[in-house]
Amino acid sequence: MTEYEAVIGLEVHVQLKTKTKAFCGCSTEFGKEPNTQVCPICLGFPGVLPVLNRTALDYAIKVALALNCKIHSPTKFDRKNYFYPDLPKNYQISQYDLPLSYDGFLDIDLDGKDKHIRIRRVHLEEDAGKLIHKESTSLVDFNRAGIPLLEIVSEPDINSPEEAYQYLVTLKSIIQYLDVSDCDMEKGSLRCDANISLRKKNTIEFGTKIELKNMNSFKAVKDALTYEIERQKSLLSKNKAIVQETRFWDTKELKTFPMRTKEEAMDYRYFPDPDLPMFIITQEKIQQIRESIPELPREKIQRFIKDYGLSLYVAKILVSSKKDADFAESCLKAYPNKDKKTLVNWLIGPLLQEANTRGCGLADLGITPQGLNELLGFVEKELISNLVAKSVLTEIIEKHKSAATIIQEGNLIQISDTESLEKIAKKVIQENPRSVQDYKGGKNNAIMFLVGQVMKKSQGKANPKIAQELLKRLLNE
Ligand code: ADP
Ligand code: ZN
Ligand code: MG
Repeated sequence: MTEYEAVIGLEVHVQLKTKTKAFCGCSTEFGKEPNTQVCPICLGFPGVLPVLNRTALDYAIKVALALNCKIHSPTKFDRKNYFYPDLPKNYQISQYDLPLSYDGFLDIDLDGKDKHIRIRRVHLEEDAGKLIHKESTSLVDFNRAGIPLLEIVSEPDINSPEEAYQYLVTLKSIIQYLDVSDCDMEKGSLRCDANISLRKKNTIEFGTKIELKNMNSFKAVKDALTYEIERQKSLLSKNKAIVQETRFWDTKELKTFPMRTKEEAMDYRYFPDPDLPMFIITQEKIQQIRESIPELPREKIQRFIKDYGLSLYVAKILVSSKKDADFAESCLKAYPNKDKKTLVNWLIGPLLQEANTRGCGLADLGITPQGLNELLGFVEKELISNLVAKSVLTEIIEKHKSAATIIQEGNLIQISDTESLEKIAKKVIQENPRSVQDYKGGKNNAIMFLVGQVMKKSQGKANPKIAQELLKRLLNE
């Protein structure tokens, strides 16, 4: 059988979180009453004049620089003409032949191996309105019309659904670090179209591409690509040609269906927008924006590994959001021991678990690095067991009390004195003759069961190490 290689290029749209729209003063706030954030400019009334939102341009430059792009100066806006009910002007202000930036790249990590994905261009445009289909009617909300939108186009350097997924995760994380977009696919502030073709392995020429639309999560992009690879493979292996078309991902059927073919593709008749000047982006401006770019996830991962002795796996988890990375770093700095293992296990273990169940980040749990250190101090001095410490953590988060208070109020200090433990151990031995027999018969595991029983009887407060020693002594007597 012929072996095929997937060739994938992604087009990502990101809404910039400016307060006002790209070419007028209307608010960009999400979720407001339909058609309340509109004006003659974003509604496309005749005779109105757009004025570029400088912040939108600055944000766009910031992303372009973070993606290693070159900046075009001057840069130009063009009209992309088409008719659609959500497009009040009958054209979209976009960029055609002099996009803001070009020739960048994004390095992604694939299980410890790097891959370099070239970025063709990053340009600025405006969003369209939104159609809402209800039973037999369709409604239109123009609140979204005119919100600044970045288009980030990759070269077809991506070769698998997994790589596409990693590209998206990495891109999103960078843009969130730059604090210029929420990148929330559910709210539509990040959207992705995927282009995919197959070619025989070890050949150079590209096959015919299919454009995939309507994926509303990164997983959906991955699933749609996986489906599409199989569909195209099956056609090619039967010697059937792929026709260039746009297909949409059906989220219920989990299949792609045709939307429009190349013949139906629009000719946008781009031409320079006569209402907007060319924009010169000075070296000073570029320098100033470059300096405002914070340390990005990749560099942060490397630094965390170097400075705190973390593994790549741990570092990747901790830097996934800037806020959490900053929190984790405060914890790492405040933690008194040179060996950060215990702290790290708590961060990516119980704390992350708490964050996940609450649908928030580590930094939003309300626990301070000092508060965490206090708790870990009790664990390290063996004053409380790990198990108890976890429930104390939950209480710290829920009741905003300190570890010391909770431990004192709950009388949670671990039982380490032999006398009280001996009483419990004796009882456990009495109640579990089978395990005792097993142990005496040479089954060393049986001791763990008995320790477990001591823990249970003491409501998790027994010091497990001492309990085990005690049990062994009693059983060997
Ligand atoms: P179009 O003119 O149809 O918009 P472009 O050449 O502008 O196509 O590319 C759009 C996207 O499709 C880019 O992300 C690019 O990397 C990707 N792409 C181009 N050719 C192919 C191909 N043969 N297979 C897969 N992706 C492709
Ligand atoms: Zn407006
Ligand atoms: Mg194109």
